Amino acid sequence: MSDMAVTRELFDQVMVPNYAPAQVIPVRGQGARLWDQQGREYIDFAGGIAVNCLGHCHPALVSALKEQGEKLWHLSNVLTNEPALRLAKKLVDATFAEKVYFCNSGAEANEAALKLARRYAIDNFGPEKTQIIAFTQGFHGRTFFTVSVGGQAVYSDGFGPKPADIDHVPYNDLAALKALISDRTCAVVMEPLQGEGGIISPEPAFVQAVRELCDQHNALLVFDEVQTGVGRTGALYAYMDLGVTPDILTSAKALGGGFPIGAMLTTTKIAAAFKVGTHGSTYGGNPLACAVAEAAFDTVNTESVLKGVKEREAWYREGLDAINAKYGCFKEVRGKGLLLGCVMNEQFQGRARDFLLAAMEEQLMVLIAGANVVRFAPSLVITKEEVAEGLARFERAVAKVVNG
Ligand SMILES: *Cc1c(COP(=O)(O)O)cnc(C)c1O
Repeated sequence: MSDMAVTRELFDQVMVPNYAPAQVIPVRGQGARLWDQQGREYIDFAGGIAVNCLGHCHPALVSALKEQGEKLWHLSNVLTNEPALRLAKKLVDATFAEKVYFCNSGAEANEAALKLARRYAIDNFGPEKTQIIAFTQGFHGRTFFTVSVGGQAVYSDGFGPKPADIDHVPYNDLAALKALISDRTCAVVMEPLQGEGGIISPEPAFVQAVRELCDQHNALLVFDEVQTGVGRTGALYAYMDLGVTPDILTSAKALGGGFPIGAMLTTTKIAAAFKVGTHGSTYGGNPLACAVAEAAFDTVNTESVLKGVKEREAWYREGLDAINAKYGCFKEVRGKGLLLGCVMNEQFQGRARDFLLAAMEEQLMVLIAGANVVRFAPSLVITKEEVAEGLARFERAVAKVVNG
């Protein structure tokens, strides 16, 4: 097995064709750097899509993984375990939440949130209160309920009848939300900064008004912080900078720093709608995942790392503004903390992917968010040297695209 030739062609032979990965196959990572099978080195501004919040193979995570790996891997929810309880306690202490539910991914955390919101509304207000309002271009995962709540038809259509009573309004459109929300609304679900949809920040007044409308109609406010959570925007969770507290919050991606884990956070009152057996997950609260997540959480939830995110944002903005001053290809650089997007101007509409491919040739990994935004979601502890070197490579990539 170990001397099997593993090439990109093997992907096409043996994998379900729902992805189109790059030719490059990385085999090793350290900090914000990756190396491929040929030993070629890359700077990683993609961070495993906002997952590797401490870069690759951070010593604190490697040590937690090794230590727990020699103790206990899995029990199931028939038994509880120390890492899960410690992590839950830390999440509760650090946030608005009083209760935590663990699962394995962002979609699962949102699936739990949506089911909890529905059950809570039905139990407390009656069977008519089932409407879920979400936002156009929103992204909440790939299960059938979560793609249906997500605001991108390309992900939700073509699978037959969808879960019912889900409506969408444009993000930041308060009038549209006002017109739709009623006492029949069970929850409003939003990202406190749309990630996959194009790095779109909410207007502060909009978020406040959403909270007030939810309160008026006894609807729960669900913040999907799967991409924004665990330090990404410079706060532990993005809601903390918005002056608005959700009723349910979901976290995944950076929560495990590269090990799969998801969590749903809520209050004791709302959590009570889930009784023994109402919902569950075999792997949820897995000790190995929780031990790694605990180490990631301890490392990220410090003033130095969170302040460092703001500092790094400034390095990026300065570098990207300088590149744009030369090449003039971006309409704006937007986002918050280390979730940043370069938005294509008129001339480069639909061509974000060309920048990604050119960057790869220059040994730099970046992301896109839709066809018009080049997205950066690097390690929260990326060094100044790595940012500078990565931006130098990005400038060469930009030059190539702009000069044809
Ligand atoms: C990535 C993402 C998800 C889905 O997470 P998975 O772990 O892929 O299931 C959900 N919501 C948001 C905001 C995301 O960015």
